[in-house]
Amino acid sequence: MAESTIENVVIIGSGPAGYTAAIYAARANLKPFMFEGYQVGGLPGGQLMTTTEVENFPGFPEGIQGPELMERMKAQALRWGAELVTEDVIQVDFRQRPFLISSAERQVRAHSVIIATGATAKRLGLPGEEQYWTKGVSACAICDGATPIFQGVELAVIGGGDSAAEEAVYLTKYGSHIHLLVRGDRMRASKAMQDRVLANPKITVHWHTEAIAIEGDGQLMQGLRVRNNLTQKEETLPVRGLFYAIGHTPNTQLFQGQIDLDPVGYILTPKGTETNVAGVYAAGDVQDHEYRQAVTAAGTGCMAALEAERWLSAQGLLHEFHQPTTEAAPKETAPAAKTPNLSESDPNAFDPTALKHRGSYALRKLFHDSDRLLMVKYVSPTCGPCHTLKPILNRVVEEFPEQMYLIEIDITEDTAIAEQAGVTSTPTIQLFKQKELVETIVGMKPKSQYRETIQKYVTKR
Ligand SMILES: Cc1cc2nc3c(=O)[nH]c(=O)nc-3n(C[C@H](O)[C@H](O)[C@H](O)COP(=O)(O)OP(=O)(O)OC[C@H]3O[C@@H](n4cnc5c(N)ncnc54)[C@H](O)[C@@H]3O)c2cc1C
Repeated sequence: MAESTIENVVIIGSGPAGYTAAIYAARANLKPFMFEGYQVGGLPGGQLMTTTEVENFPGFPEGIQGPELMERMKAQALRWGAELVTEDVIQVDFRQRPFLISSAERQVRAHSVIIATGATAKRLGLPGEEQYWTKGVSACAICDGATPIFQGVELAVIGGGDSAAEEAVYLTKYGSHIHLLVRGDRMRASKAMQDRVLANPKITVHWHTEAIAIEGDGQLMQGLRVRNNLTQKEETLPVRGLFYAIGHTPNTQLFQGQIDLDPVGYILTPKGTETNVAGVYAAGDVQDHEYRQAVTAAGTGCMAALEAERWLSAQGLLHEFHQPTTEAAPKETAPAAKTPNLSESDPNAFDPTALKHRGSYALRKLFHDSDRLLMVKYVSPTCGPCHTLKPILNRVVEEFPEQMYLIEIDITEDTAIAEQAGVTSTPTIQLFKQKELVETIVGMKPKSQYRETIQKYVTKR
């Protein structure tokens, strides 16, 4: 396990709060070290990786896609010299100084820490939820809505806030009809969002309605049992998909016993972004249960970096680093339209010597002509985890250049293939060895799991 020298500041989390803190700290010559996160508390890039259009972030009059906004923030942090690792922090020790922050792969010591771990979507724990998770049940309409199982069928969304309203409207692109289940007699969503929902003929709002069980045929979800909490009348909605949009829990389990939290788990910051431990700051949704917006998270990220800098300076702990001299953003962070070395569905563009491919033509060709291990990655353009997984998986497969192929299938372009493969959620990975499906991996997993799975099959002859 790697152990570094003492950092000025470690930032935990890479949502708008974390990246803004990184930009400010890096510009102040602090060379911040960031744990971007990976799995436990949401995606690197945070919650906006799971949405489409962001219409209210200042500076983008036409709106901007959530993942693109986060890519831009990341590029800006890197440009000014922030150091980033795509790892989850699994332990912190704020009782010793310098503080100790650990991931599975390294321990980092730091004089100050900015916590920006945000919040994660809640689940209801309904009967059937575990069985039909990713087989109809999802917490992210934007990520999974385009999958074939949701096309042209009735779908349900649970929740009464902005996220629920946004998801219901978004799902009208795919589902034949959307049932929005609201527990009370009104929605918490903004007036504008409510108007969009109520005016949409493809959405029915079920007031005073609670879900009680998810029903299915053993393979896929087939219906949702609901109860009207005024009349107690029960019925089964014939929905094939259920999307939770019922709020978030602050990602603070890691900090219990280390810093003061409120009864719900939000970090207490009575003055600015200061916590009760000098040198530890908190920014964004992890300390804000009221506004929970990208711009407020970014604002408190800025505050946390300025407060950390002042504190380090006052303690005589600040160690300055020089800014990178280059003006341009580092190449690897520039939004890449296409992965290089990726052959297209177009037969003329197919290059059998390439390791990475895209589209149905390459899949068919390699499936029939090659005896190498085939890794088929099913993605959709709006799926945040797919964006996160892409560079990680690319690096892993590059370790096996002569032994395998990676083929990316966009399920919105190659719907029939996705349907045939039984893909119900993105990202899904399928591994084929000598034309036989040997492994399916749904969702994002630790890098080591992909490597070990590939290793298992490339060494087997
Ligand atoms: C569907 C949806 C749509 C939204 N639309 C808008 C909108 O249009 N406009 C708007 O202003 N706001 C919107 N929001 C709200 C906005 O996304 C949040 O307010 C904002 O992302 C909060 O930023 P944050 O940096 O505090 O945390 P988050 O964005 O939640 O990021 C948290 C980060 O911490 C990381 N992390 C968690 N645990 C760990 C750990 N143990 N180790 C390392 N890293 C960790 C995560 O990986 C993630 O990178 C939307 C939210 C959702 C869910």
